[in-house]
Amino acid sequence: MKRIYLDHASSMPVDPRVLKLAESYLITNYGNPSSLHSVGLDAKQAIEDARKKIADFINAENENCIIFTGSATESNNLAIRGAALRNITQGKSVVASAIEHISVLNPMKELQKNGFTFTIIPVDSTGLLDLELLAKHVTKNTTVTSVMYANNEIGTIEPIHEISNIVHEKGIYLHVDATAAAGRIPIDVQKEKIDLLTLSSNDLYGPHGAGVLYIKPGVKIQSVLLGGGQERGLRSGTENIFAIVGMGEAAHLAGKEMNTESKRLTTIRDTIIKDLLQIEDTYLTGHPTQRLPHHASVRFSGIEGESILLNMDMYGIQISTGSACSSKTLEPSHVLLAIGLKHEEAHGSMVISLGQSNTMTDVPTIKKAAKETVERLRQLSPLYQPKR
Ligand code: PMP
Repeated sequence: MKRIYLDHASSMPVDPRVLKLAESYLITNYGNPSSLHSVGLDAKQAIEDARKKIADFINAENENCIIFTGSATESNNLAIRGAALRNITQGKSVVASAIEHISVLNPMKELQKNGFTFTIIPVDSTGLLDLELLAKHVTKNTTVTSVMYANNEIGTIEPIHEISNIVHEKGIYLHVDATAAAGRIPIDVQKEKIDLLTLSSNDLYGPHGAGVLYIKPGVKIQSVLLGGGQERGLRSGTENIFAIVGMGEAAHLAGKEMNTESKRLTTIRDTIIKDLLQIEDTYLTGHPTQRLPHHASVRFSGIEGESILLNMDMYGIQISTGSACSSKTLEPSHVLLAIGLKHEEAHGSMVISLGQSNTMTDVPTIKKAAKETVERLRQLSPLYQPKR
């Protein structure tokens, strides 16, 4: 059976061109970048080359703005805890959108346990942030506000430029988690006036095990991991050169190819959404137009996401039913609840994130599998009552 992988937001294959460039850093160029001998210096140079590629990819002011971490989760933790704790004299308040990834929400909840005020800003039914409430709740006591560039579960792209203006009017740091958006839509940290920005290697077809935190010049944060002082003292620990070199190349390729690839995926995405919405009692989740080019998400009433996922897998099709990180729990996704869905509605979601391997020829198989799956599960479901 042909495999049709539609879960790129959870994990992506490494691009063979990335692997080709990076693999020698596992086998022959294994130096420690902190060593002063030639093997170490080669490794150091490879990291600096990768840093330059990432800086170019997001139009950072210079390479020194780029700090390599081990993952997007780590970058989010460093941004939030690092900014909140370093600027504690300014105030003890943090702000985030209701649909942030758990690696943003949890560090903020932890700060709350330690005496910070944590304000969650709601979104509307399409996932767009309530800008009036944002303006109201960002105060001079806020140290950091976090709003994601685009959401990984519903695909909605936030109006980052407007959000940035609101946050900066109060002189507050804006952290943006761009894990889901990077490589799909252009990101320009200077134009959008972003202070802190998170990227993930694997979400760009790079290896797992590397992330980036962009820090605008002059923005003050403190480290979370203490040790040997690597990465300007902000992220101690010997660098994962293979993943870092891979991430640099992945970002470079994404920058070159994103435009064409995103156009190609948009066409496939639109056809899939159109096909899925033909199934009775099926609704789009997320924004109808302001959404990521590779992202299609819907909910089917009266059935469970886990059963949909397993049934689709029997057709050789891998989808997600919410965030990969929380799909181990049976709790409905906090993102779907935040857009106003009831518990039972949030349970029936299907998230499709397309990638390099997908083509238009996949679409009829996806359509047939989804239709049969939904019909079969609804016949078995005591919850499903067709609208007449
Ligand atoms: N932020 C967003 C928007 C994500 O989708 C993810 C998961 N891919 C993360 C952060 C965390 O990434 P990781 O688990 O690789 O650290």
